[in-house]
Amino acid sequence: MKVWVDQDLCTGDGLCEELCPSVFVLHDSLSYVRTPDGSPLFAGGSMSMADVPEAVLDKVLDAAEDCPGECIFLEP
Ligand code: SF4
Repeated sequence: MKVWVDQDLCTGDGLCEELCPSVFVLHDSLSYVRTPDGSPLFAGGSMSMADVPEAVLDKVLDAAEDCPGECIFLEP
């Protein structure tokens, strides 16, 4: 599974980073995803898609479900 964030819709509340800091990182009040080695993908949008480690998939799904901006997207 891969994940990306649409920064145009992100409210910057930081819920995703609280739930799963190994995958999400706040930068200038917007959320970005990290690659499994921890590198943030600051280009953003669908061009910045990161693999979701199996161990944190549930947390990433929770973040996507609870995201107030509805801007966390998961793809096979
Ligand atoms: S939970 Fe959603 S709206 Fe909130 S910071 Fe994360 S991506 Fe942005």
